[in-house]
Amino acid sequence: MGKFDLPKIDLHLHLDGSILPETAWELVQKQGIAVPAEDLKSFLPLIMVPKDCRDVNECLERFEIPVQILQDQDALKRVTEELIGWLAKEGVAYAEIRFAPQLHTRKGLTQKDAIDAVLAGREAGLQAHREIGIGIILCAMSIGGETVNMEENLETVRLTKEYLGKGVVALDLAGAEGIVPLSNFVPIFDLAREEKVPFTCHAGDSQGPETVADALNFGAKRVGHGHHIYEDAALCERAKREGTTFEICPTSNVCCQSTSGYGAHYAKKMFDLGLRVTINTDNMTLFDLNLDKEYEHCIHDMGFSEEDILQMLLYSAEATFQNQAEKAALMERILAYKREA
Ligand SMILES: [Zn+2]
Repeated sequence: MGKFDLPKIDLHLHLDGSILPETAWELVQKQGIAVPAEDLKSFLPLIMVPKDCRDVNECLERFEIPVQILQDQDALKRVTEELIGWLAKEGVAYAEIRFAPQLHTRKGLTQKDAIDAVLAGREAGLQAHREIGIGIILCAMSIGGETVNMEENLETVRLTKEYLGKGVVALDLAGAEGIVPLSNFVPIFDLAREEKVPFTCHAGDSQGPETVADALNFGAKRVGHGHHIYEDAALCERAKREGTTFEICPTSNVCCQSTSGYGAHYAKKMFDLGLRVTINTDNMTLFDLNLDKEYEHCIHDMGFSEEDILQMLLYSAEATFQNQAEKAALMERILAYKREA
């Protein structure tokens, strides 16, 4: 159980950025992947973001080795199962783990094979840790001009539809922001809406509020990061009206320099405006992080109270991609904690 003994929720958590470091090192050796490291200690900087990281792109480079070692079903299953064990140990009540199936096809797996492996890992993790709830989000990717991988992205949308209710709960668009306008990805979200696939979308992290406007125009009810919305008052009003939930990941934003520090982060100002702010880790290994550390930063560096943390957890519970009954049960756990506190 973690330090904050409350029903914690992580809505924004990438599988490839959250591999147990020992496992990553073991898989590198087992698969004979050449890396400039001779032991775990010298290997860690290759999969963790340095404190003086330049920008989001330097953060993204830290995914290269994790993606390289996750090209077979055994590895995908194992890291998923282990991540669930890690979350359970931290006292997380519910988490949505996301990954991009198309990044795991370098050695011949299909997107479907990758999803099957992650779902097998989810099943094994849930068998061993019955107290936790886990949903899987499938990411479409922004890796260049939108035409480069539009086919793969549309396949991910169709597979999300196929696997809804089988452990997969939603779709996301992840990857580098700002290579091309986010609005260029509209076909992905048109198909998602047509197929009634729930989705979230990375926006407004390294880029400005206009990208959050794009996400809202797609019909996103949740936005990954999105903190730069605060620079546009009218857009904040719109997000408030539409009940948009923001998957804020403070340490990720600080490490990747999309904000100048915890104290300068817009999250508390957004929360005070009445926006639905939630607190998440983004990548537990990449940033050497867990939710307890994020809540500590919230309270000591960002101006949130413990009461605010509970309110944000209620926002998280309401915004999960679970069904209504599951959401209500999660909210009741938080309210029960609140009554006893
Ligand atoms: Zn993310």
